[in-house]
Amino acid sequence: MITQLIERGGDLSERAQVCVIGSGGGGAVVAAEIASAGHDVVVLEQGHYWTKANFTQREDQMLPRLFEEAGMRQTSDGAIQILQGRNIGGSTVHNLCYSFRTPDPILAMWREEHALPDLTPEALRPSFERVEKNLKVKQILEQQVNALNRRIRAGAEKLGYSGLVTKHNREGCIESGYCILGCSYDAKQSMLVTYVPRADAAGARIYANARSDRIEIGPGRTKTVTGSVVDQSGRAMGRVTVEAPIVVLAAGAINSPDLWLRSGLPNPHGEVGRNLHLHPSAMVAGFFDEPIDAYRGIPQSYYVDEFIDLDRDPRSGYVLMPIAGFPVLTAASLPGFGREHARQMRDFAKLGGLLVLLHDRSAGRVEPGSSPGRPKITYTLEPDDRRLLAEGLLHSSEVLFAGGAERCLVPFTPDALVLRSGDDLNTITKRGVREGEIVLNSTHPQSTLRMGGDPKRSVVGAFGESHEVPGLFVADMSVFPTSLGAPPQITTAALADRTAHHVLDRWTELAG
Ligand SMILES: Cc1cc2nc3c(=O)[nH]c(=O)nc-3n(C[C@H](O)[C@H](O)[C@H](O)COP(=O)(O)OP(=O)(O)OC[C@H]3O[C@@H](n4cnc5c(N)ncnc54)[C@H](O)[C@@H]3O)c2cc1C
Ligand code: SF4
Repeated sequence: MITQLIERGGDLSERAQVCVIGSGGGGAVVAAEIASAGHDVVVLEQGHYWTKANFTQREDQMLPRLFEEAGMRQTSDGAIQILQGRNIGGSTVHNLCYSFRTPDPILAMWREEHALPDLTPEALRPSFERVEKNLKVKQILEQQVNALNRRIRAGAEKLGYSGLVTKHNREGCIESGYCILGCSYDAKQSMLVTYVPRADAAGARIYANARSDRIEIGPGRTKTVTGSVVDQSGRAMGRVTVEAPIVVLAAGAINSPDLWLRSGLPNPHGEVGRNLHLHPSAMVAGFFDEPIDAYRGIPQSYYVDEFIDLDRDPRSGYVLMPIAGFPVLTAASLPGFGREHARQMRDFAKLGGLLVLLHDRSAGRVEPGSSPGRPKITYTLEPDDRRLLAEGLLHSSEVLFAGGAERCLVPFTPDALVLRSGDDLNTITKRGVREGEIVLNSTHPQSTLRMGGDPKRSVVGAFGESHEVPGLFVADMSVFPTSLGAPPQITTAALADRTAHHVLDRWTELAG
């Protein structure tokens, strides 16, 4: 059953065999797999239970309703905006459905450098297969590639750059283009319409508006999760208490370490909250000679992978991804102010973006902030990443021009660099990117409760279980040992599936 606690009213007090915190890309998978095996699962989700009927396709309503900190989450210096979902289904309700397995060279690095010898493609295959089947992952069809993606592909091909039309997890997509604001047609195969209903049908008790604020250990195997019934603004309306021998933390890579540290859980080597990778991205805006209505159709279907070679260097590189925003998100991503900014926005229908997404070496940190769920996030781009970002901005402009753009806006602040077709693009790399000078976004925070075989360099072991607290698991993007360098939803779900099946294999020991 899915219960909206603010509508029901009162406090929540429960006992279960498993308590899962967070219902997104990792949590929903664990809840569904364990509940489907006949076990007693409670899910606590801080956000509301919104369904397709609530997705109005309006940014002014959806951004504050569906996103963490009303869409305003940022690093503490304000340099990077971080978008994460805050609702049943988590960020999968907003994601753009690129579906990639974990790249083999990344798995090899995790095996060799993070003491995870069993993390082979073969060992993960059953998890990938289950996840891809449940999320209905399939190839995007040629006729589903929209005008912007076609132009980007034409540009990349003209320049001889490698790229591909990707796989996605959509079924019956009518190509409305509103994916980020939630799919009004239940076509996007997010956790909301896949694993959450599976968990529900298998008897899991799923509570929306239930924010977990603390995890306490003991006595014995018992763990007590306490928290608050919260409304949309995070205001506490009642108390939450759940006792369970198995707790699975899946609150995302910002909130999970925040909750861990706030709870005073063991952190003997200071690893909790460190190693934050953001896959930071910056958008070059291309203005074409005619309206392309880039926001219509499947937003991202093409993917330029020319500038990432994980076999050669699994630690760095960048990819280019088409992006079209709605007016508010676009306005926030475009640099500049006042009249000049308004002038750019008047050409909205001619505008199509190309994101540079960094496979970042830079590592930041999450620490508890002034209140639960509002952690302090610090992150600075290292010089090598800044150099790659400048190079990526050059190549994004190059691809946009080759695809037919007449003018490109490179997002330097306060004054954007405006380039016209035929201009010398080396201006970008000559100028370079100084700290805080480029408008950056992140939709993939990761690695803050790293998985690894060495307890001095990681927080959880090979199956997501805490090195220090038996029966406490992590199953979200926090567990990635390094930056992934690829879209993360399938890796997140597959590792969560692996954790769930490991829990089932050790059921009597863990829950008995
Ligand atoms: C705009 C956008 C586009 C993206 N596009 C893609 C894409 O195309 N392809 C791809 O592979 N990936 C994409 N992603 C990333 C993908 O969605 C994530 O990999 C995945 O959702 C991560 O799962 P998670 O469990 O770590 O976190 P989430 O899915 O964010 O789930 C965490 C959940 O925990 C809840 N929570 C947090 N704190 C608490 C608490 N204290 N108590 C209770 N509940 C709590 C949150 O409300 C949330 O529902 C995108 C993400 C975004 C935001
Ligand atoms: S493009 Fe497809 S998946 Fe995205 S919101 Fe529209 S119908 Fe849903």
